[in-house]
Amino acid sequence: MSGGNGSGVSSGEETQLLLVGAVSGGLAGALLGGSSVPTVAGIALGVALGTGYVTAFRPHAGSLVDHVFRTTALSVPAWILLGLTIAPLVQGGLMLESITAQQVFVDAGIWMGAGAVFSVGMLSGARLLELRPESPTTDPAIGLPPTPDSDPAAGGGPSTRIVIAGGGFAGLETAQRLEELFGPDPGVEIVLVSDSNSILFKPLLAEVAAGSLDPTDIATPLRTALTRTHVVNASVASIDPEARLIHLEDPPGAGDTDGSMDGRSIQYSHLVCSVGAETDYKGLDDVEQEAFSFTTIDDAIALRNHIINCLERAEQEPDPTVRESLLRVVIAGGGFAGAELAGALNDFIRDVLVHYPNIDEEEVELTIVHSGDRIMPELSDSLAEYAQQQMADRGVTFKLDTRVAGASRGQVSLNDGTELRTETLVWTAGVKPHPMLGDEAVPTTEWGAVDTESDLSVAAHPGLWAVGDCASMPRPDEEGYYPNTAEHGIRAAKVLAENIYAEERGGRRKPFQYTSPGSLVVVGYQTACAELFGYKFSGLFAWLVWRAVYLMKLPGMDRKHRVLIDWITELVFPREMAQTIGGDVLDADTPDPRSTADEATTASPEPAVQSGPSRQPIPAGDQPTKLTDRHTDEPAADRPDNQRVRQHE
Ligand SMILES: Cc1cc2nc3c(=O)[nH]c(=O)nc-3n(C[C@H](O)[C@H](O)[C@H](O)COP(=O)(O)OP(=O)(O)OC[C@H]3O[C@@H](n4cnc5c(N)ncnc54)[C@H](O)[C@@H]3O)c2cc1C
Repeated sequence: MSGGNGSGVSSGEETQLLLVGAVSGGLAGALLGGSSVPTVAGIALGVALGTGYVTAFRPHAGSLVDHVFRTTALSVPAWILLGLTIAPLVQGGLMLESITAQQVFVDAGIWMGAGAVFSVGMLSGARLLELRPESPTTDPAIGLPPTPDSDPAAGGGPSTRIVIAGGGFAGLETAQRLEELFGPDPGVEIVLVSDSNSILFKPLLAEVAAGSLDPTDIATPLRTALTRTHVVNASVASIDPEARLIHLEDPPGAGDTDGSMDGRSIQYSHLVCSVGAETDYKGLDDVEQEAFSFTTIDDAIALRNHIINCLERAEQEPDPTVRESLLRVVIAGGGFAGAELAGALNDFIRDVLVHYPNIDEEEVELTIVHSGDRIMPELSDSLAEYAQQQMADRGVTFKLDTRVAGASRGQVSLNDGTELRTETLVWTAGVKPHPMLGDEAVPTTEWGAVDTESDLSVAAHPGLWAVGDCASMPRPDEEGYYPNTAEHGIRAAKVLAENIYAEERGGRRKPFQYTSPGSLVVVGYQTACAELFGYKFSGLFAWLVWRAVYLMKLPGMDRKHRVLIDWITELVFPREMAQTIGGDVLDADTPDPRSTADEATTASPEPAVQSGPSRQPIPAGDQPTKLTDRHTDEPAADRPDNQRVRQHE
């Protein structure tokens, strides 16, 4: 294995990277000469900024779009700081005294152009110098060498293969941190096996369901987020920790599959399990048949399409009984995910009603059914009360101390005997670790999570690790377990990667220890509640903080730009209410019985809910990519209580 500095990057590559940064920075800096900066100063500035950039972001060839966006975006604050403030001061006099609007426009354009030129130069240089290490590919089918035990010096491929199963928050973070730590070391191969080719940013899922964001805005392709990791789009069918093998099968839902992954296996030196969790209907099979789950892009698209469909049908529907069921939405679960979804859908429906003149706002009902005596038990009493009041003011109703007990076609039964007529039941009330992990080969806790030590290893199987929603993640002080949130999954993944590095390089492993700064939840348009660093605040300011935080956390500069543009567009234009063509709900071959034209136009004296077939389950290929504890609103008998606490990034 190659030696290297602390980050695992060889000093040769370090020098080459700095050179690339300096040269492309110098070239870009020459563009600045003559605008707000003198030519020589422009070049010197470019060299300094270029080397600073490569040191901070360590670009390798292959992620051009991200770097173009990032450098162009960074050039704006750099222009304000250097071009508009420091340079004029050095030249004696304030720039703004004499500058015209036209000059400002041209000057900003030159700086942004220089940013784009810099990124293109930098990545061309990286490609020229082959700064992106190539993964060895000896197996033509999945592009992996047959075993991890070969010697790279003898031309036999890497000697250590780290396989990550699951490309969600925890899996992606593990891969990124491993890339940083091992650098281009050819002796170490990093493989990410995921049944989806992108990471879904679930905190913004409600915004997709409510028409504020485009679905692909919040799904970042794994291949653009990683530089040297070998991404395999497949599903992990089972794990054999004794033989250090994972067995693969075709990924579900990714379009046409030909079984080419079935029966294949990958040998590993280390396996990181990060396959997440899935919806727990708590044994309510009828609810599972009838309810929409809310964890995947497909879920958000299907829900939005369905709600628009209900509005279209209600607009033409004369029968009050049918109208009632079309215009009522029931959300099971008043935790963060349920509350955020309720707030977003409620605003969406009431906003678009202006286009449905035959629907009276009074007819719309959005109800949260929650087992506790107040929603969002994770928040303090005062903030949760504020959130509930805000939502009630906007028309959301609450059924507290109540549970969904069953469902039939178009009808929901509550445990207090109430029957609610509705075409739309959304389940956000429970999660359980991925069922693949029920496999007896991997030790699990009583609630089904991989039983991990505080350093995230699995004691019984050297080389096996787990992190995120599928892992138990005990607190090192023996006081229970960390909650299942993206925030904790990401922090734990960093520690896990460092522990693998320590294991390989002979260092000491450390336990995962983390204290969350607090919680943030959005309860409607321009209203959020926050509890951060012990301070509570709410309203518009909290909402702006919420948006800023999530924009920062969203992976990929291109995604950040798209989301920002959508949010700015939404300030001026109405929300998107066109149905998304191609989703499950609109697929002619797999119609949602609730959405059929017959029902839409038939005025039946009987509740439509009593007859008709049950909602078709989502085809296997589109099954949800699992829920999280953010959905849990009720104490689950089989899980420790603190597994349900959910905090924010
Ligand atoms: C609507 C919603 C809102 C949320 N909001 C927040 C929030 O604001 N803040 C917060 O901290 N948390 C939030 N969460 C929780 C957070 O999303 C989860 O805790 C987080 O996704 C867990 O990360 P993970 O990597 O363990 O699992 P996941 O992100 O679920 O990733 C698992 C990955 O594994 C893949 N996979 C599954 N099975 C297989 C298999 N057999 N083979 C290969 N790949 C597989 C999946 O496709 C997926 O990519 C929210 C969750 C939801 C659903």
